[in-house]
Amino acid sequence: MNANKWLKVVPEGLYCAPGDFHIDAMSPVATNVVTHGHADHARAGHDRVFVTPITADIMRTRYGEDCAREMHPVPYGEKFGIGDVTLWFEPAGHVLGSAQVVIEHDGTRVVVSGDYKRRRDPTCAPFKVTECDVFITEATFGLPVFRHPTTESEIAKLVKSLRLFPERCHAVGVYSLGKCQRVIMELREQGYVKPVYLHGALVRLCELYRRHGVDLGETIPISSIDKKILRGEIVLCPPSALADRWARSLPDVLPCNASGWMQIRGRAKQKLIELPLVISDHADWDELLQTVDDVKAREVWITHGREDALTHALEQKGIKARSLRLVGYEEEDND
Ligand SMILES: [Zn+2]
Ligand SMILES: [Zn+2]
Repeated sequence: MNANKWLKVVPEGLYCAPGDFHIDAMSPVATNVVTHGHADHARAGHDRVFVTPITADIMRTRYGEDCAREMHPVPYGEKFGIGDVTLWFEPAGHVLGSAQVVIEHDGTRVVVSGDYKRRRDPTCAPFKVTECDVFITEATFGLPVFRHPTTESEIAKLVKSLRLFPERCHAVGVYSLGKCQRVIMELREQGYVKPVYLHGALVRLCELYRRHGVDLGETIPISSIDKKILRGEIVLCPPSALADRWARSLPDVLPCNASGWMQIRGRAKQKLIELPLVISDHADWDELLQTVDDVKAREVWITHGREDALTHALEQKGIKARSLRLVGYEEEDND
């Protein structure tokens, strides 16, 4: 196995020499393969970008039509070549359009998982297990203490709180790509049929999800209504909006936040969150270990996150683990 000879860490991120391309490059490069639309992975300004068709749409929506000189959308499962290398995308289960990149070169198969999760998400295709020689994984929640509860139980807490406090406006902090739409769909699955109100920053990506067939039910931008009617209603907003003047204009606001980090009580308290909802778009500890088992990799490279405990656990299983220490891929808000 010689993947470390042709797949390397450079200042922009991961670089594949025989194909002369980067993966999720942090600064403009000639050829970039992008795993998904979150801002820490998808950036504007590259010459040539390979992505899934939905991620291409997300990048154009966020950064404009001219965000890359050439955009090459490739559907899941369709093989393509760059230089001397064969690649294809498989679903990562992280957000709509998110992909793992499967790379074959010189008799070795490497899977770059990007960000991923294993549990069900009604807004995107589920993670596809692809056996490989080298599995490259994140470790955002790579500590045994991180075990995410079921999403159903967290959404049930929100529905119950609305019943207990029918006078209070429940403002839920959600990342605009993925978490927002997932919370809406999970509410719908629990029979919540009322309109869900949206902060202006969330409207465009909800429209994009609808264009790709995710039926979010009725959503109303709050810019168009009298805020007095928001008592007993759910308003979704970016997590940062909970802390500013915008939130204080809501009637008797009850601040909630949907994030994997809400498992850490101190973080919820520090952000004055009254109702923390532990809903994550990343693999938790058990999912990380399960995934390494499933893909049957002999070697695991860890891109970012909490790698020490994971490295140790993998070495005990006889799997070679290597920490890449890539910087810049962790934004607290998009977990
Ligand atoms: Zn992400
Ligand atoms: Zn990320």
